Amino acid sequence: MLDKLAQIVGDKQVLEGADMERYSRDFPGDFSWTPLAVVRPANTAEVSDIVKLANATGTTVVPVSGNTGLAAGAIAEGAIMISLERMNAIREVRAEAKIAVVEAGVILANLRGAVEEQGLIFPLTFGAQGSAMIGGNLSTNAGGSNVVRYGNTRDLCLGLEVVLPTGEVMDIMSELHKDNSGYNLKHLMIGAEGTLGIITAAVLKLFPKPRAYATAMIATDSLTSALALLGQLQAATGGAVEAFEYMPQIYIETHMKATQARAPFEEMHAVNILVEVGATAARDAAEQDDGRAMISHTLEDTLATLFEDGVILDAVVAQNEAQRREMWERREAAAEIIFAQAPIINNDIAVPVDKVESFINMADQRIKEADSEAYPLIVAHLGDGNVHYAVKAPNHSADVKAQIVEIVEDCVLAHGGSFSAEHGIGTYKLPSMARRKNPAALAAMRAIKAALDPNNIMNPGKVVPPE
Ligand SMILES: Cc1cc2nc3c(=O)[nH]c(=O)nc-3n(C[C@H](O)[C@H](O)[C@H](O)COP(=O)(O)OP(=O)(O)OC[C@H]3O[C@@H](n4cnc5c(N)ncnc54)[C@H](O)[C@@H]3O)c2cc1C
Repeated sequence: MLDKLAQIVGDKQVLEGADMERYSRDFPGDFSWTPLAVVRPANTAEVSDIVKLANATGTTVVPVSGNTGLAAGAIAEGAIMISLERMNAIREVRAEAKIAVVEAGVILANLRGAVEEQGLIFPLTFGAQGSAMIGGNLSTNAGGSNVVRYGNTRDLCLGLEVVLPTGEVMDIMSELHKDNSGYNLKHLMIGAEGTLGIITAAVLKLFPKPRAYATAMIATDSLTSALALLGQLQAATGGAVEAFEYMPQIYIETHMKATQARAPFEEMHAVNILVEVGATAARDAAEQDDGRAMISHTLEDTLATLFEDGVILDAVVAQNEAQRREMWERREAAAEIIFAQAPIINNDIAVPVDKVESFINMADQRIKEADSEAYPLIVAHLGDGNVHYAVKAPNHSADVKAQIVEIVEDCVLAHGGSFSAEHGIGTYKLPSMARRKNPAALAAMRAIKAALDPNNIMNPGKVVPPE
């Protein structure tokens, strides 16, 4: 098998033993595995040849991009891991059509940097953007901090190229905003976490880069007040809120302890919001007498009114890029801060935006009742209702973990939410899928998997639980 792989990609691109180290564990450090080999193809034809070989021999394959996934979706015991890292070309950026044509191994931050030079943005952004790759982002349908304005990765994709489990190349590299030619296979592949095929290239949507940003940390007494703030800001800026991120007091304190960072306000507050608005129109970005953009004044004026009305308790508006970076670093440290508290029970959930507060209150209370020493460590993309509800339970036995996960699921379902918001299912959430997903939906997923991957070679044992 290794000789045959070397014939396809060349000796140097078949890694074994210690060279596989960084591909052999997940980011949180909960899982490790030993692949048969890690292969690094240079192009779609090589990916196709590897998959054909795997399919013919019944060998499992697991695609890997930046390996920053948080759902244990790239576990590859005894499998051929196909790393997309060498397929990292940005083939084309077409400013007038506002599209980028990229290979799947392009690192997210590199794409963002490349299109910014042309006055455009690819809006997907989150803490792991320096390692995560477009193929991984599409396969997990990643979310991040700008979903409130631009949507998930799914909303940012026009076309795909996918190597199917048979090795056939499915070219649906559409550049179109309207294309009703049959079943939408693009959306089937996005979020499939490599169980239905390997994404090798994509056509992505770009947007005008905001000409100016206004960024602030804001304190409120409750999430209800925070939502009133969001509504007012959307009205005042014409829907230009790019990020609306919630950090409770315990998160701020944990972050300060871990990084020696300073507090956002003179006093500690229960509800801390990072808000960013982006001015796309020239008039909103126009420089005022004090050298600051109009959007910054719009933000300040709105906050002043809300302060007088008692909706907000405190606010600090970034006066320069260094202050803006400081605000973002506090938020983007979330994964490191929370996983440093390991072992923790990680719940990535979504509820309707107006039910976040009620969900958190219910879950907090029910977890306390189940284990008086357990407490939540929360950070949330509040603007889209996505709560990272991690639980630190000093008594972290498998039973306690299962009980807490089920409590969180109960509370999520009581609020019409989902037990998986943006990190996916992988293997981590297979029990939740088996328990909570609609049985007809699960049967449809199993039928699709069996039809496209009859030999069950493509990232098996992920996403869809066994019957
Ligand atoms: C610090 C930090 C912050 C994070 N913040 C966020 C956040 O705010 N929002 C968010 O959504 N996620 C977040 N994540 C999770 C993670 O970064 C995302 O899920 C990301 O999209 C994964 O990309 P990746 O390239 O690392 O994929 P990988 O981890 O390599 O792969 C993820 C899954 O996709 C499959 N896969 C990989 N490449 C392909 C391909 N080309 N074709 C088919 N399947 C493939 C893998 O088999 C695996 O199942 C964060 C992670 C970290 C470590």
